[in-house]
Amino acid sequence: MSRFLNKKYWSLKEYTPGEQPQDQQYIKLNTNESPYPPSKSVLDAVNSEEVSRLNLYSDPECKLLKNKLAQIYDVESKNIYVSNGSDDILNFSFMAFCGDEVEALFPEISYGFYKVYADLYGVKYKRVPLKDDFTIDIDDYCNQNKFIVIANPNAPTGIALTLEEIEKIVKTNPDNIVLIDEAYVDFGADSAYNLTKKYDNLLVVMTYSKSRSLAGARLGFAIGNEEIIKDLEKIKFSTNPYSINRLTLLAGVAALESDNYYKDNAKKIIEARAYTVSELEKLGFSILPSKANFVFAKADFISGEDLYKELKTKGILVRHFTDEKIKDFNRITIGTKEQMQKLIETITLIKGEVK
Ligand code: PMP
Repeated sequence: MSRFLNKKYWSLKEYTPGEQPQDQQYIKLNTNESPYPPSKSVLDAVNSEEVSRLNLYSDPECKLLKNKLAQIYDVESKNIYVSNGSDDILNFSFMAFCGDEVEALFPEISYGFYKVYADLYGVKYKRVPLKDDFTIDIDDYCNQNKFIVIANPNAPTGIALTLEEIEKIVKTNPDNIVLIDEAYVDFGADSAYNLTKKYDNLLVVMTYSKSRSLAGARLGFAIGNEEIIKDLEKIKFSTNPYSINRLTLLAGVAALESDNYYKDNAKKIIEARAYTVSELEKLGFSILPSKANFVFAKADFISGEDLYKELKTKGILVRHFTDEKIKDFNRITIGTKEQMQKLIETITLIKGEVK
């Protein structure tokens, strides 16, 4: 830290992203990326002719992409906000919708960035403990009069709420925004985006990073009431109007032309998830019921940290969190069936070694 840093950031504890090692090839099951490459339509769209136009700025209004997303999600273009990764939308939402009078509320065990954004903006917040079975008690979120953020499915548990439960939360907090972070919704949970037509306080946030195989392109979007979208645009045009680059905009449009490809991939991941769960259970793991492209698993023969380390030594990366309440678990991204077979083989080996 330099002596020039504004004092208000001195105690800020930044987010720690999952490892992205550049030195060696791992089977990467640590940051919930898709194991499948982007569709052919994306590879074709990001061509050398387009690269040669990088001297020009991108469209700050992102019209093409918004129109296409509006078609797919059956809303109007004015109900769509697009951003440089969905982290940006979360960031802007904490910046824009919380403040002196509005505190934030989110689950104690959830995406670690919520706390970081709240701290970044000096927002007061309450983190609500999950129930013993790691589910969310929705009564904790009804009639709260706070800015509410819930990941659905939740991360790192993978457990999803039903649409009825989400609607109850949205309905009982009419004077505050309820942000539903649907980064992992395409792997078996129900999206709440249709409810944005009925409730003007619901903001549904999605990403291209998981089911649409574009984590490296950085593209996220939100669906919500026109006025909320305008608020987000206000922040974007007050910070970085060209936040989405030309190639990512093209990739984002092209990906929507291959919806079937991505749906098939999501199906394969759901199948590989079922396989992984049943094999891990045979090996003595307890696993939370996941609707995401990862599982949160606890072994009965090795600690969470040791399993993470052993797997890493053997070329497989998973995610381990040190928080007391979840330190026995590992979050394992679901890759291809072959990758998951390799994971199971490797864990079987490790189990043999620790006995
Ligand atoms: N929300 C959740 C729950 C996540 O796990 C992630 C990915 N780390 C994000 C949002 C952000 O994803 P991205 O910025 O890649 O769209």
